[in-house]
Amino acid sequence: MAEESEQQAYARRRQMMVERQIAVRGITSAVVLNAMGKVPREAFLPPNMRAYAYEDAPLPISEHQSISQPYIVAYMVDALQLTGGGRLLEVGTGSGYAAAVLGEVGDEVVTLERYQSLADSAHQVLNALGYDNVEVIHTDGTLGWSEKAPYDAIVVTAGGPEVPESLKQQLAIGGRLVIPVGSVETQQTLIRVTRVSESEFCEEPLIEVRFVPLVGGAGWEDRHD
Ligand code: SAH
Repeated sequence: MAEESEQQAYARRRQMMVERQIAVRGITSAVVLNAMGKVPREAFLPPNMRAYAYEDAPLPISEHQSISQPYIVAYMVDALQLTGGGRLLEVGTGSGYAAAVLGEVGDEVVTLERYQSLADSAHQVLNALGYDNVEVIHTDGTLGWSEKAPYDAIVVTAGGPEVPESLKQQLAIGGRLVIPVGSVETQQTLIRVTRVSESEFCEEPLIEVRFVPLVGGAGWEDRHD
């Protein structure tokens, strides 16, 4: 049937994406490759963008935001050094795609989004796909979500001027936070912060990246709406 063959075509392209865009660039974690091979990226895109779901690129979604390049999602999840399970926090739900990837890896995922419309549509897609371990909350994610803290890992998918203190404080000891940080709104260095003890944190720069701005209390000022 037409519907089936379309899904099979997406599945084939997804497998090719995992091999040619992710594994080939050095991501070897089975946890990450398995999760990337499962989540249907097309489901998180507006209908006119679905044909590009497995392109090696970020794509526009509504509210002038974007769904990250698959490799970058894989890279960030890999950088969290997860072995499966645990409680995970994402700041910047956007389409909900990366939250679904985290949902494949962790036991429980909380994802925070500042736009109500994006939070609502991500919630609907995640729900329709059966990701009932992923909770979407409409809030300023720079403050984290203390109700469910501590988290084994936190990932921020928008770029801010600094590492928000509340996110560091919501990490479990031994937990990792991966966040793009930069002194301009359009370019950042991806940083991994590991909570070594109650009061000690270790920071490592990873790669140069370009994310949409993190806007909020411990992010950039809202100058657009
Ligand atoms: N992870 C997303 C990528 C989203 S782009 C995906 O897989 O599609 C970054 C998102 O962060 C945008 O939706 C933007 O609205 C959101 N964002 C920016 N600042 C935020 C903040 N302070 N709190 C929560 N979300 C924020």
